[in-house]
Parts: sequence; structure tokens; C-alpha cells
Amino acid sequence: MRDFADSVAKLCIEKYNSLKKTGKPTTHEWTVLSGIIQKDSDGSLFLVALATGTKCLGELELINNSAEERGSRLSDSHAEVLTRRAFMCYLYDQIDLTLSGSDNAIFKRDKNKIELNSSVSFHFFSSQTPCGDCSIFPKEAISDDMPPSKIRKLNEDINGYIIAESPYKDIYRTGAKCVKTEQIQDPHLPGMNYHIVGPLRTKPGRGDPTNSLSCSDKIAKWLILGLQGSFLSLLIPPIKLESITIGVDCPFSLDAMERGLYKRFNNKVDRPKILQAKLSFVHKRGEERLHPCPTSIIWFAGRNSALEVAVAGRKQGVTRKKKGNNLLTSRRMLLQTFLQVLDKYQNYYSEIRHPKKITYYDWKQWSTIYQNKWKQLKLGTFHNWPCKPMNLQNFTL
Ligand SMILES: [Zn+2]
Repeated sequence: MRDFADSVAKLCIEKYNSLKKTGKPTTHEWTVLSGIIQKDSDGSLFLVALATGTKCLGELELINNSAEERGSRLSDSHAEVLTRRAFMCYLYDQIDLTLSGSDNAIFKRDKNKIELNSSVSFHFFSSQTPCGDCSIFPKEAISDDMPPSKIRKLNEDINGYIIAESPYKDIYRTGAKCVKTEQIQDPHLPGMNYHIVGPLRTKPGRGDPTNSLSCSDKIAKWLILGLQGSFLSLLIPPIKLESITIGVDCPFSLDAMERGLYKRFNNKVDRPKILQAKLSFVHKRGEERLHPCPTSIIWFAGRNSALEVAVAGRKQGVTRKKKGNNLLTSRRMLLQTFLQVLDKYQNYYSEIRHPKKITYYDWKQWSTIYQNKWKQLKLGTFHNWPCKPMNLQNFTL
């Protein structure tokens, strides 16, 4: 499995290294790199989506968005989240390819529905352990005279996973705070009692608090509902992840990953394999790179393959007043892409009838199966998941 993890990491890192400098960290900045790899029936691996990012907008900044900017700005620019958005762009192209009659797509067309080819699977990579619950676990015992860089002692278990040694004195911390409505909050006591594990957390960051949940929580949601989200679930079956590979450059715990992604919830999910790669990412956090990079790179494969650079949730270089230059991964553009597919294949999707001018939010309610599942989760496991602010969703095209 280690070889597989390394192949997955290599595809992401090599693609990143091949891109030009725009959007990448400067000398003193670091970033996180994530990607999604497709495995085909013959075992070959392709990178289909890639993104970098460390930032997240605060609530106030989003609320103050002008009406024209509604749905245009991304609130959450962590690499994992942008990668999934880029992946959705790839999926729309694959749907178009399938419905236009191609045999080279990942889907096959049935009389009235599209199915994923059974031999195709998807694999997630991130250069760093996801923020939030997955990042909380015991630190290896250290003696006082050992410099911090030697903290990590690593062993391999029988499956080739890298595991941390015990005994424990302290834990790795996450900047992600427990959601305010969670009954139990972090005690913030020294050592092992700084955090508790289990609750939903919002994204780390100082200043203006954010409403976006940590990557551990969001990935946990994707594992239950699929990566496709609500619009695409009207067109295709849920898309699952078969494995999640984490890079070698950060503290990593298999236990904490399993807990953060599914064991802390009582839901039945297909559990992805969790792996760690040996390959290092060049723009990781380090002594020389102490500041999180404010820009993001977003890329996806396909006939409309695109590379975009984002800053503060907008396309880089686009001023507030200039309209019509949205990121392809913004809510607005994803809704537009969705409607284009619906219009182009009206006959195939004849049961999805819609009035012309309805809002993004109302559109989402059309995917009743997905929405009902999500409502069920919000009654149970995810009952503290905050509602998305309406002003991000009540826009029309
Ligand atoms: Zn994150």
C-alpha cells in the first residue's frame, strides 16, 4: 500500500511542481496541497483535480458582500475543499462526455440514469493532516534536551502505516475551535487535556470568526453523502473515496484520522483506506516558511481543463466592480454549469422541470434524496453543524 500512497502523492506533487509560480507561496510562505486521483480499470492512475490553500473568510466579510458578489466568493479556501470543488468541474465534463455518446467517460449511460463504471475509483491526497479532529492526537514522549525538530519518532506497523510512538505527555493541537453550540468544549488545560475529541469544529484562524467547518468535519460529511454535493446528485450516483493519503511532512496518526473521519460518528460509511506517503511537498510549513500563503491554485482535468489562481475567495486580479469574471469553482459558476448540462440534455433529464429564475438555495432543494439524507444527519450526528448563511445562497444567475 505504501507504493500506492507514493504514486498518489507523486502525481499531485509533480503536477504542482510543473506549474508556474503564480499563486504559489513566496520564500517565507507555506501552503497545503490536495488532489484527487482517478484509478481506471487497468490500474492506471490520473490526477483529475488539484488545489492549494490555507485560508478561510470570516463571517463578517461574507455578510458584507454586495448583492452582485453573492455566490461568487468562496468562503473556504482550504486545499481539501477547493480540490473537491475542482473535482465537481471535472465530473460535469464527464457527464457531458457520457451523454454526448462517448465511451471514454467514467460514467455509462443507461435508459434513464447515469452510472459510474464499476472499475473506476477515486483517491484523495493531502500534503497535511486535515485541520480539526484528525489533527488532535498524543505527541510522542520527548526528553527535555531534545530539540523540537527531533520530536517525531516514527515506526512502521505491519501494514506499512507510519505510527507514532508512545508514551504520551502532550498532544498536537489544532487551531480549529469547537462549534459554539457543542455541549462540551475544549478545556484548554496543559498537556493531554488541552483538547477534547469528537465535536465539530470551525476552521482555524484569528480575528473575524468563520462559519466554515474544519476539513475533518467536511471530509466526514463527504464520506457519508458522497463528494458530488446536491446539484450533481440529481445527475449521478454518490461518488465515494476509496483511499485517503496524507503527506509525510506533518504529524500523522492513523487512529486520529479514523476517529476524525468516521469513528466518532455512528454512521455506516464505506471506510476509505487511510495511508501515508513518503514523499515530501516542497512548499510545506517549515523554519523558513512560517506564514500561510494567501493565494490558492485550483486545477482540474478534462476537455475544459483550467488552472485558476484565487485570493480572498475571488479570482486573482479581479476587482470587486468587474463582473462576470468568477472562479469556475464558485457557487455561481457551478450552478451555471449544472443548468447548462440540464438544458443541453433536456430530453434525458425530462423529469427535472424548473422555473427559469429560481435561487441557488431553491435549486438545492430539488435534490430531495440528498437533502433528506443531509436533514437526517443534521438531526443526529451533525446536529451542531451551523446553517450556511442565506445570503451565500439566495442569488439567481
Ligand atoms: Zn483545513
